[in-house]
Amino acid sequence: MRTVAVLGGGIGGLAASYYLCKSPQVTKVILLEASSRFGGWLWSTRRSDGAVFEHGPRGIRPAGAVGSNTLNMVDDLGLAEEILPVSYSHVASRNRYLYVNGQLHKMPSGIRPAKTHRLKLADIAVDSLCRGVFAGDCRKLSVRSCFPVLYNAEQHRGSIVLGMLLGSGEAQVISRGPLAKRSKKESWAQWSLKRGMQSFPEAIAENLQQSGRVQLHKEAVVKQIDPSASGWQVHLEDGVVSADHIISALPAKALSSVLPRSCQPLTQQLQDISSVTVAVVNLEYDGAILPVMGFGHLVPSSEDRGLLGVVYDSVPFPQHNRPDGQTTRLTLQQDCIPQYYEGHFQRVESMRGFIRNNNLALSLTGSCYDGVSVNDVIFSGRTAVEELLGTVV
Ligand SMILES: Cc1cc2nc3c(=O)[nH]c(=O)nc-3n(C[C@H](O)[C@H](O)[C@H](O)COP(=O)(O)OP(=O)(O)OC[C@H]3O[C@@H](n4cnc5c(N)ncnc54)[C@H](O)[C@@H]3O)c2cc1C
Repeated sequence: MRTVAVLGGGIGGLAASYYLCKSPQVTKVILLEASSRFGGWLWSTRRSDGAVFEHGPRGIRPAGAVGSNTLNMVDDLGLAEEILPVSYSHVASRNRYLYVNGQLHKMPSGIRPAKTHRLKLADIAVDSLCRGVFAGDCRKLSVRSCFPVLYNAEQHRGSIVLGMLLGSGEAQVISRGPLAKRSKKESWAQWSLKRGMQSFPEAIAENLQQSGRVQLHKEAVVKQIDPSASGWQVHLEDGVVSADHIISALPAKALSSVLPRSCQPLTQQLQDISSVTVAVVNLEYDGAILPVMGFGHLVPSSEDRGLLGVVYDSVPFPQHNRPDGQTTRLTLQQDCIPQYYEGHFQRVESMRGFIRNNNLALSLTGSCYDGVSVNDVIFSGRTAVEELLGTVV
């Protein structure tokens, strides 16, 4: 494998490039990002007074193989000193709320329903979970694709509750580095970084730059990709890049719009993966005004269809506060969370089948396929590289 072009410089494309760099089998990696910044949805505003506002992910979970995998990368990037851990005993981990009937109810024990209302409350909890993670509609989302841990728990143990107690039968084994071991020992529930999540893609980009093996291009919009005798021609606004293989970490619709006509069935299936748009409003207040302390509250669709919930960032990460002042920020994140509707798993299998059957030198990675969390996206980048090279990186 000589040259690999990675399309999209969000965390998925950066992770794929990072793992490609670890292999001597790859001579050159070309990372192409349309915007003027790497990191995609990992986006933080850092004010000169030290306050940090997150416009995308605000916390990453250390649990499971994918959580350890991310922490191993954080270690390798030299970011261990920047970590802000939140333990399971922290109030932000213990207290999560639902806003129902105009009141905050602590989960899971806060609402004490009559028997006849239990089913309704289970519905509310699932509805809120889908809204909290996918900003989506629980009637349309696929449990298998959206919550594989729940699905596997149910499959392996015959019951979701038993599965959660005994383990989900997670197949991947990732050895824990020092930071992942520390997270286990100190019982972390989530973590962030002192200068915000954006520090993570910044550190990966710097690491890639220093490796001398990756050409990093910002403001490089991929317009079209065409098969060539040895792989692909990637057309940009101002030139053409040749590559033996492409790893696409583009949103599915963006990839569908650059594929050649010969990939029509794949193009159609990519277009069928929808995304939702979410508005993130960062509010800053003087003093302590929260009525309760905790992670935040979710709002079920029966209460307010337009509002997903409120995250009390100052509780888990007070380090991101500033001493005083008031600010309101609104960012509209267009098409930011892919929706894994019923049939998503089969659709992704079918797309990868098309690629295999047509011997396309193309890998699909990023949040549109194998999980939307930062951990899942990073792991998906690693898996794409390992499958390409036929070896563990
Ligand atoms: C508001 C919000 C909150 C979230 N909260 C959490 C959280 O708390 N915890 C968690 O684990 N996850 C969270 N997530 C999910 C997680 O952040 C995303 O799933 C993940 O960052 C997606 O990464 P990606 O690389 O797949 O995609 P993206 O970040 O979308 O990256 C794709 C990149 O491709 C580029 N691109 C597009 N078209 C082209 C083109 N034609 N040519 C070249 N480049 C192109 C884009 O500019 C972009 O940089 C959240 C997401 C959002 C939006």
